[in-house]
Amino acid sequence: MLGPPLVPMIHAIEAVDKPVAAAIEGVALGGGLELALACHYRIAHSKAVLGLPEVTLGLLPGAGGSQRLPRLIGLTAALDLITTGRHVSAAEALKLGVLDQVTDSNAVDLAVEFVRSVAGQPLDSRRLSTLPCPCPPDVDSLLDKVMSKVRQRSRGALAPVACVRALRAAASLPYAQGMEKERELMATLFNSGQARALQYAFFSQRVVGKWSLPSGARWDNSTARIISKAAVIGLGTMGRGIVVALALTGISVVAVETQEKQLAEASRVVPAMLQREAGRRRLATPPGVISFSSNLQDVSEVELVIEAVFEVMSLKLQVFKHLSSVCRPGTLLCSNTSGLDIDQLAAVTQSPGLVVGMHFFAPAHVMKLLEVVYGPRSSPEAVATAMQLGKRMGKVGVAVGNCPGFVGNRMLKPYLEQANFLLEEGATPRQVDEALEEFGFPMGVFRMSDLSGLDVGWRIRKEAGLTGPGVESTRTRQGRRYSPLPDQMCEAGRLGQKTGKGWYQYDGPGGRVARSDPWVHIFLETYRAEHGLVARSITLEEILERCLYALINEGFNILQDAVAAGPEDIDAIYVFGYGWPRHRGGPMFHADQVGLGRILQRLNQHSHPDVPHLKPSTLLRRLVAAGSPPVQKWREFINKERVHS
Ligand code: ADP
Repeated sequence: MLGPPLVPMIHAIEAVDKPVAAAIEGVALGGGLELALACHYRIAHSKAVLGLPEVTLGLLPGAGGSQRLPRLIGLTAALDLITTGRHVSAAEALKLGVLDQVTDSNAVDLAVEFVRSVAGQPLDSRRLSTLPCPCPPDVDSLLDKVMSKVRQRSRGALAPVACVRALRAAASLPYAQGMEKERELMATLFNSGQARALQYAFFSQRVVGKWSLPSGARWDNSTARIISKAAVIGLGTMGRGIVVALALTGISVVAVETQEKQLAEASRVVPAMLQREAGRRRLATPPGVISFSSNLQDVSEVELVIEAVFEVMSLKLQVFKHLSSVCRPGTLLCSNTSGLDIDQLAAVTQSPGLVVGMHFFAPAHVMKLLEVVYGPRSSPEAVATAMQLGKRMGKVGVAVGNCPGFVGNRMLKPYLEQANFLLEEGATPRQVDEALEEFGFPMGVFRMSDLSGLDVGWRIRKEAGLTGPGVESTRTRQGRRYSPLPDQMCEAGRLGQKTGKGWYQYDGPGGRVARSDPWVHIFLETYRAEHGLVARSITLEEILERCLYALINEGFNILQDAVAAGPEDIDAIYVFGYGWPRHRGGPMFHADQVGLGRILQRLNQHSHPDVPHLKPSTLLRRLVAAGSPPVQKWREFINKERVHS
């Protein structure tokens, strides 16, 4: 540890018999604020930011913060700040009582002036460790309520629960005993592995910003263009969200939609969405102006276009061809596709170098993830601009290579496939979902599929020739094991929440509460009987291993193919876009935690000649043969292997 340990220092400062004031000029987060809490007074600049964000890194404020903050601002407010880790402005901190004064000029000057003015006044009431914790009358019920809320929200994360426990100690025990409890809880968190996962997740977010392409283009040798005028083509759910996300950054947007009804609805809904979001985010600068049009010709003056029409290649090709002739030379053309070939789109334009994919996640103005897809011909400038734009929109942008499904959806495919196979073999949708939810996903695959609509995948499979009229309903398609279960659900009109029925039943179309449906059980039994399958009882462990290890294995294939630059890229995609529990770091980090040898052994065990996704990736085998280096070393390992091969 650098310098003196914080806790004795904090106690020493508090014990000083002359008034001590903290002058906070910039940020006082974590240890910084804990130090300030030791002082008798706190003065901050109006631009200062304060908070105890330890919980977001899997820890708690372990230098007395969990015992001092509630004594200063009361239990209720401290519970909020410490269990969420949120940052607060100087103005809010003043209101909460964290600060004594706020200034627009120099905080140090004011602090000096301040301590002079209070010199000689008694300090007892300023020493937080000696004060009782102000609590509402029904402390226990408040703490119980917060605990159950936190448990629900944190999905297995230990730190928020430990924070509530530490605050319970602050409310009920003298300071010294509270500190003892704080130390005990901190030790548990340190040893849990979750803190390491959360720190890794935090770090991976930074790593992906420093993108690099196999061509050698990198974040620090490529120049991004600053975009001020953009267009969005197609105003479905995705297009509308993208328009709002762009406008929030101050970019003016031309929003184009060909269907009259959709255009009318979007012109009504989008400005309201924008206003709501702008209000929520308290924007410093006014949002960009949005103009609506049904004419593609109106995008001729913009610098960047994001196409978000139906996910149909022939339509996208037509739109790209048209855009290429309408737009000024040099305009960047981006496609919000979830997995189609970017290079094919580039090929129909006059400047293939200016084409990239920008894969947003619904709702596009809220979700953090953005996959920026580069094709073999995408220029470094185009990638840099899309990444920069993602950053301006507050997104975690990850540069990924061009292959079916890119990174996120490519890995999702074997995961979903295993979930369907498990149903064939005897599991129920609820069993599979519960296993995944217990692992920490906000929703299991079947609940998720009901929410997004079973017809989405059905359409894609039809386009791929895997199902549809004329395709025989067997359990093998295109030479591989295939489960026709989801297709049969769609054929039965069970498209999910929107039809009131899917893998679960709902109160009606649009209903949200998922209940097991006897129809599904009979359907599964009939299906198994038809195909001569005998249901067996499947353990939670097998469900998790088959779903997660299939997904992880595809992650190794992706690294091997250089579609992702490193494991951090994959992990950031899964944490920020696919609901992978943050306290488990990401799929590749998880593989490291479980042990690569074990993953390999289990994949071999579940392997089946008809299921290529479970065939262990060559990279995984090589890593195991090299003694399973930790995840932080994989990027280097892969690059070395690439040079040698
Ligand atoms: P989502 O955004 O949820 O994927 P859709 O796929 O329904 O939703 O949205 C696509 C939108 O693109 C539709 O509103 C459709 O009318 C619109 N669209 C289709 N072709 C064009 C086109 N050539 N120009 C502009 N808009 C188009």
